[in-house]
Amino acid sequence: MHKCVPVGTHLCIHDADSLCDQPQTRVHNYVPTGTWLCTDQEPNEGRLGGGIFMRYRACRLLPPGVCSVTPAAPMPTRELVIAFDADDTLWHNETIFENVHMRYREMLAHYHDAATVDRTLFETEMRNLELYGYGVKGFTLSAIETAIDLTNGKISSDEIRRLLELGRSMLAHPVELLDGVAETLAALTPLHRLLLITKGDIRDQERKLAKSGLAAHFQHVEIVSDKNESAYHAILRRHDIAPTRFLMVGNSLKSDILPVLALGGSAVHVPYPLMWAHEHAEPPRADGRFFTLDNLRELPALIASLSANR
Ligand SMILES: [Mg+2]
Repeated sequence: MHKCVPVGTHLCIHDADSLCDQPQTRVHNYVPTGTWLCTDQEPNEGRLGGGIFMRYRACRLLPPGVCSVTPAAPMPTRELVIAFDADDTLWHNETIFENVHMRYREMLAHYHDAATVDRTLFETEMRNLELYGYGVKGFTLSAIETAIDLTNGKISSDEIRRLLELGRSMLAHPVELLDGVAETLAALTPLHRLLLITKGDIRDQERKLAKSGLAAHFQHVEIVSDKNESAYHAILRRHDIAPTRFLMVGNSLKSDILPVLALGGSAVHVPYPLMWAHEHAEPPRADGRFFTLDNLRELPALIASLSANR
């Protein structure tokens, strides 16, 4: 998108490249993320110029003189309902599993190499998923089953006890929030209806939410057995949310992004450094309803831009 900017226009943008460090100023005009701007004046103290094209991630255009004196004006907003995934979106989870995987490989190292252990454990988990569902308890049972298979039944009761203790340690693990989560939710809560949608063991997810200190931000908490189209469809119907007003934020393309896009909603992918192989999926084609952020801190600015364009 290309837009011409009048000479002397004051410009405020959300990121560190701001020319006019007043992002709280009243919005008179808005230019979506990625817009190319041009004018015919050299850049000078907050005024965009130079007779060149400049690209900004998100910006607001203001008439001269408004920038430094106008009080803050929140973006409009209650129309958009925002739902968050929990594990690896709000708090660390896969790192805990990875640490246990490492100890599991060490335990079975005198029977098989790490790749064999990993592959067999994953196959067992997938075979049991329909019966056990997601979560630590299903993982622990699959880990014990795999250990019995890979040792031809030679694994000792002491070693099985250690596996049970590994599972118990995961359930008792402290909840550690990801960077920027507390600030982001605090910023969005007054402006939007927030939901938490997570899958897995109900008791474990409830425990983590309670430990996180984030529960008060969410109007509704949905803990489901799987996050597919039918699950999201049921949630939207239950809470009377039109898909076009729904935006899901999560780390998993498979569970948080693709089903929501298929229903006509919008989705924000915030990748986590580690990803369970079961959650792998190819990125969808961007169509104005799918976004990727490096950090949850970037979400309020994106939401503001979406709200302004509605
Ligand atoms: Mg997740």
